[in-house]
Amino acid sequence: MLIVMKADATEHQIKAVVRVIEDLGYKPHAMPGATRTAIGITGNQGSVDPSHFETLPGVAEAIRVSKPYKLITLDLRPEKTIVRVGDAAIGGDELTIIAGPCAIESRNQGFAVAEAVHRSGARFFRGGAFKPRTSPYAFQGLGEEGLRILAEIRDAYGLKIVTEALDEAGVDLVERYADVIQIGARSMQNFSLLRRVGRSALPVLLKRGLSATLDEWLLAAEYIMAEGNYQVVLCERGIRTFAQHTRNTLDLAAIPAVRRISHLPVIVDPSHGTGKNFMVTPLARAGVAVGADGLIVEVHDQPDHALSDGAQALTLEQYEQLVSEVRAIHEVIAPATVS
Ligand code: PEP
Ligand code: MN
Repeated sequence: MLIVMKADATEHQIKAVVRVIEDLGYKPHAMPGATRTAIGITGNQGSVDPSHFETLPGVAEAIRVSKPYKLITLDLRPEKTIVRVGDAAIGGDELTIIAGPCAIESRNQGFAVAEAVHRSGARFFRGGAFKPRTSPYAFQGLGEEGLRILAEIRDAYGLKIVTEALDEAGVDLVERYADVIQIGARSMQNFSLLRRVGRSALPVLLKRGLSATLDEWLLAAEYIMAEGNYQVVLCERGIRTFAQHTRNTLDLAAIPAVRRISHLPVIVDPSHGTGKNFMVTPLARAGVAVGADGLIVEVHDQPDHALSDGAQALTLEQYEQLVSEVRAIHEVIAPATVS
């Protein structure tokens, strides 16, 4: 059930609807928009009787939701969500660039990359402290020490920190040091983890699962939002296919497909999406051209010595060039994506 309030509904009338939803034992999700507020309802098992709401003052419509989505959908919020991270944003007019190494390996490495990321004008720095590696014998990240280095980088450069949490204990730690919690592809359907970040005050960057359909990915976002955290950014990072020339197949058609359904910002990861250094810049260009709100890109000061994902890491010079190219593309297509 979705309650659409009239354009001139008062705060008091909205609160009254929220109270009725709570009294029925359900959870209200009020989404103020440019022209009207809509209130989503979750927590109901069967269908909700619209007659509870239809006669309440300020209510324009009580609509039965037939789609699997209640909160990510444009029906609830026709305008794009802008995820605000302090004085930076994802989903606004500006192209968001999140860059940094796959993993934080040392203070020197982190700072060498961060300096270049800062110089490029990007507002977000990425770097894993907890790494979901295929092999248990591969470098697993520096853990809390990595988070401390990330926090130092934030203090030194004013960059917002994006880093992955692998489990619920990891979320407690990441919340102490970072600005955005990344949920990795391998965790996209870890439902208790999704619920946990849904109760976080930090925005969540939700990567698409290794072989997730659009529905599965959007329903994962729905898990987070159903707990009350509406600050979710979707990230297309490629899916497993039969293709062997790339690490993953970057599904750029997912960007316009998401746009048609959801108000959430969506960004592209051309690094994991290709796995190969020489493909990252071309696919980054394409990601921006297809209308993504931003990019998340892996950069290393010494890719040949990287402890994880070196083959897809851009050098500092390549990264600088990428930024200037994608900014130019964004300038050209921005008016089209805004309309
Ligand atoms: C990463 O960002 O380094 C990462 C592990 O990404 P993904 O979850 O998309 O594989
Ligand atoms: Mn990586």
